[in-house]
Amino acid sequence: MTKHQVTMIAGDGIGPEISAAVARIIAAAGVEIAWEEVEAGAGVMAKYDTPLPESVFASIRKNKVALKGPITTPVGSGFRSVNVAIRKELNLYANVRPLQVHAHQFARAEDIDLVVFRENTEGLYAGIEHYVGDQAAESIKIITRKASRQIVEKAFAYAVSEGRTRVTAVHKANILKYSDGLFLEEARQVAAKYQQSNPEIKFDERIVDNMCMQLVQYPGQYDVLVMPNLYGDIISDLGAGLIGGLGLAPGMNLGDEIAVFEAVHGSAPDIAGQNKANPVALLFSAVLMLRHLGEKTAADSIEKAASKVLNKGEVLTADLGGTASTDQITKAIIAEL
Ligand code: NAD
Repeated sequence: MTKHQVTMIAGDGIGPEISAAVARIIAAAGVEIAWEEVEAGAGVMAKYDTPLPESVFASIRKNKVALKGPITTPVGSGFRSVNVAIRKELNLYANVRPLQVHAHQFARAEDIDLVVFRENTEGLYAGIEHYVGDQAAESIKIITRKASRQIVEKAFAYAVSEGRTRVTAVHKANILKYSDGLFLEEARQVAAKYQQSNPEIKFDERIVDNMCMQLVQYPGQYDVLVMPNLYGDIISDLGAGLIGGLGLAPGMNLGDEIAVFEAVHGSAPDIAGQNKANPVALLFSAVLMLRHLGEKTAADSIEKAASKVLNKGEVLTADLGGTASTDQITKAIIAEL
């Protein structure tokens, strides 16, 4: 009997290759998933007249859980980001990126165990832009109390449920006094509430530029980080670099009911279709998904198998300095299971 029904958006670029690899590994781990495959991205424009057909939303709303490959966003022109549109439409207000060391030889420090909570629906990603004449352009950054409170609440709730002991709010309120100031005000209020119920969780604040330097110098000192959209985008890539690169960094987009799991990296058009992509970041995202679905044993064994392959260092894709293909690393992980 099929146990879980999950929406699969394979995506474009390297998306189809790595999604297929991940589905193979999950099946090999013995988890039964009925994948409901839906199409989105540049490749389906001609077919549906939109890169994001309504069927994608219908499927995710029905199943409540999706695994998503990367989708290309053309720079400067064409459609707006499908990735951003999915997060906005389904109110997936929290982008969560756990950054743990699984491949020791690629990590910048052994003790990195960070979780980045990035506000996912507003900030500069609201996409409100216009030209001012032909010599300038203006972009509007939206910060609301509601979205700020929601993301900080989510970060604290996670800290409580996962036994974490520190939440750091990241901002630039010294310069952006209204927008980031408002985010920080809400963060302080949520923190004050948690100080009553969970005094074991410490709260502090960092200005984003200082945070970047601190993460490079002392990454092991930080725990849960929460921040507005753009800072989250940048810091989670910085964090991905600390643990060994984009090929290893998983992520999830959470709302109140729906969860969409995807890797931090993009569609890597430079290596698409060449059987060279590293499927591990999407695989670690699928591990988060399996835990969300209650498949803890399978999640743990997949994580262990992938870590073993990475740490042995014999079968690695080119982004990690090896020569293995997507297919070869997939087979090596399955062999370890
Ligand atoms: P990218 O992450 O696609 O690629 C950056 C570099 O990392 C490239 O050299 C690429 O080959 C390499 N790389 C990335 N993932 C890899 C993997 N799994 N295995 C091996 N190497 C990998 O970033 P980019 O080039 O800035 O973006 C390409 C496209 O992806 C853009 O259209 C961008 O908008 C889109 N994008 C989508 C998402 C998403 O779907 N969530 C996220 C980021 C970027």
